[in-house]
Amino acid sequence: MPIYEYVCPKCDVTFERLRPLSQAQQPADCPKCHKISRRKMSTFACFTASTGGVPKTIAGTSGGSCSSCSSGNCGTCAS
Ligand SMILES: [Zn+2]
Repeated sequence: MPIYEYVCPKCDVTFERLRPLSQAQQPADCPKCHKISRRKMSTFACFTASTGGVPKTIAGTSGGSCSSCSSGNCGTCAS
């Protein structure tokens, strides 16, 4: 299950949520003020096992994209 980062628009805190890929686009509530927070796309990390079983982190530059997909919501990122 992938980990997604969210940032609270009120207290500017960044937090992570472990959730299924199907819920990736759903907002999460801030752990401090419980305000609905959006996904933090700029630091989206993509984990892939294409390096022979060794997890490799690919930091997206923008839009949450990784080397193996055109969006931040691909099946490769889910494993
Ligand atoms: Zn907050």
